[in-house]
Amino acid sequence: MTHKPLRLMIDRKALVSNWRWLAAQSGVETGAAVKANGYGLGAREVVAALAAAGAKDFFVSTWDEAAALGALPDGTRLAILHGLGPDDAPAAKDSPHRPVLNTMSQVQRWRAAFGERPCDVMIDTGMNRLGVAMDALDGLAGLQIDTLHGHLACADEDHPMNAQQLERFRAAKAQVAAKRYSLANSAGILLGDDYAFDLVRPGIALYGGVPRREAELMIEQVVTPEAQVLRVDTLKAGESVGYGATFTADHDMPIATLNIGYADGFVRNLSGKAHAVRGNTLLPLLGRVSMDLVTVDISRAGDVREGDWIALDYKLPEIAAAAGISQYEALTGLGPRFERVWR
Ligand SMILES: *Cc1c(COP(=O)(O)O)cnc(C)c1O
Repeated sequence: MTHKPLRLMIDRKALVSNWRWLAAQSGVETGAAVKANGYGLGAREVVAALAAAGAKDFFVSTWDEAAALGALPDGTRLAILHGLGPDDAPAAKDSPHRPVLNTMSQVQRWRAAFGERPCDVMIDTGMNRLGVAMDALDGLAGLQIDTLHGHLACADEDHPMNAQQLERFRAAKAQVAAKRYSLANSAGILLGDDYAFDLVRPGIALYGGVPRREAELMIEQVVTPEAQVLRVDTLKAGESVGYGATFTADHDMPIATLNIGYADGFVRNLSGKAHAVRGNTLLPLLGRVSMDLVTVDISRAGDVREGDWIALDYKLPEIAAAAGISQYEALTGLGPRFERVWR
């Protein structure tokens, strides 16, 4: 097996602690969104860790993601958020999982193929992205609905849409019979008990994202990228580093080149803004982020050698703000070249 010179260190305890905190906040059954391969961490490992902590409901986007998960831990359930598309019936037929039906054409397709087999349904309470329209709810009669879902568009802000979507979801609940009702993602959980219903579906906050102020001191960082040192050198006074020669040293300084770049999701907008970290010491990035490399000032790092592993300071709220991207992109962009190391 070849060696990977960069790795994501994934803190299982922090993941579980975040889930427990969100579960305590919601006070109801708390599942986990594990689409996009568990937001990039590895869906199988996330499911195993959270199932062991007591999570029962998991969510992926597609049947392909469901298949990649393989056999689930005993007592857990999986729902497919994108529902039953025109090409999905064969996968659904051999699967124990539920689609989250999103349109009337999906509802008709499900009815025709699977009759009264239990399913979930998403309704559109105003996001206008996915979900059965509020004025089409009569068409759901006769379905065996396990969970009726809604999804909040603005839960990470104090926005009038939140109360409006809550109102509409309550109206839908009064109209549509289901075993359970579910509205809140991570941010929605923090809007309070009114939004919890029977089941909540956190994603980003499990993985270290901070969707609202309320979670700031409670959500732990889960993922830390680490890269190996390719070269240690001295940057002489007056010399510059990297593409565009954007950093020039005003004194001789020791530098290290690390095996990580924007092709790994460590985005170029972090040039001059991010840090590596050794112990408690922050080491500034110098010059531009390249496709596969960054250069770091190691003046305060002690002894650094070729082959050493160096962590990048990667708190999602700070990285997202510095790079001008969302916390979701900062996390899910971390690419396939990382080895995922659980500890
Ligand atoms: C992704 C997703 C979630 C989780 O959202 P976060 O903002 O990551 O907590 C919940 N519900 C649905 C329908 C989703 O697509």
